[in-house]
Amino acid sequence: MKTLPGKELAAAVRAQTQAEAAAGPQPRLAVVVATADEASLWYVRSIAKAAAGVGIACDLVDLGPGAAPDRIGETLARLSADPNVHGVMMQTPLPAGASAQELAGAIDPRKDVDGANPLSLGRLAAGLPAFPPATAAAVMALLDHYEVELEGRRAVVAGRSTVVGKPLAHLLLDRNATVTVCHSRTRDLASVTSTAEVLVAAVGRAGLIGAAHVAPGAVVIDVGTNPTEDGGLTGDIASGEVAAVAGALTPVPGGVGPVTTALLLRHTARAANLP
Ligand code: NAP
Repeated sequence: MKTLPGKELAAAVRAQTQAEAAAGPQPRLAVVVATADEASLWYVRSIAKAAAGVGIACDLVDLGPGAAPDRIGETLARLSADPNVHGVMMQTPLPAGASAQELAGAIDPRKDVDGANPLSLGRLAAGLPAFPPATAAAVMALLDHYEVELEGRRAVVAGRSTVVGKPLAHLLLDRNATVTVCHSRTRDLASVTSTAEVLVAAVGRAGLIGAAHVAPGAVVIDVGTNPTEDGGLTGDIASGEVAAVAGALTPVPGGVGPVTTALLLRHTARAANLP
C-alpha cells in the first residue's frame, strides 16, 4: 500500500503562494475567533505562523468565548468591508446559540477564503467561481497531486457537513466522478463505502472506517482529526487494518491537514488579486 503524505504538496503550494503574495499588495487575512477551545486556538495560531512564512499578514480578531452572535456577525461584516482585508475566516466552535451558517453569511463571498458563506457553497454547486472550504479543496489537491483518476470512477464521501462532505461531493462531481455521500443515518455503511474506488472519510469518529469498509486497492483519504489521549491526533480510518486492503492512504497527521492550511493561504493570495 502507498502512503500519500501531504507535506510535499503543502510546501509546493506555500512556495507558489509566496510568489503570488509578493507579486502585488501584501494580502491580509483576518481570522475571527470566539472560543477558548485550546485546539482551535492552536490551529489559528498555526495559520498566523504559516501566513507569516509566505508573506501574508494575518490578524487574529479574538472576541472571546462569550461574544454575542450579533457582535460576531458585525465583526465579519466590518472586516468584509475593509479594503485592506482580503480574506475573512471564522474559526469554529462558536459560543452557544451562535449559528456558523447564519453568521458566515456576513462574509463577502469574494473574501470567503474558507468557503463558509452558504452563497459560496451554492455557487460551488452551480459550477460558478467560488472559494471551496480549504479542507475540501485539500482533498482534491491531494488526489490531483497523486494523479488519482476521478472521471467515471465511484467516489464515496463519508460525512455530509457543509465544511467537508457536501462541498467535496460537488468538487468530485465536477470532475465526473460518480459520487455517493454517506452520513450517520446511512444503513450498513460498510456495504456502501466498500463500493468506492476513491473513499473519503470525514466523520470525526476515530477509526470508524475499518478493513471491512474498504474495497481492495481503493484510494482512501482520511480527513478526520480526532484528539488522542496522549495529546496527538488520529484519523477516521483504522489505518493499521485498512493498510492491508487499500491501495493508497493519507496519514493522520501529515496528510490533509498541512495541505488545508496551505490552500487557505493560497485562497487569500488569490482573493487579494481578484480584479
Ligand atoms: P461534522 O460537522 O461533525 O460532520 C460529521 C459528519 O459525519 C456528519 O455528516 C455525520 O452525519 C457523519 N457521521 C458521524 N458519525 C457517523 C457514522 N457513525 N457513520 C456515518 N457517518 C457519520 O464534522 P466535520 O466538520 O465535517 O469534520 C469531520 C472530521 O474532519 C473531523 O474529525 C474534523 O476534525 C476533521 N476536519 C479536518 C480538517 C483538516 O484540515 N484536516 C478540517 C476540517 C475538519 P450526520 O450529518 O447524519 O450527523
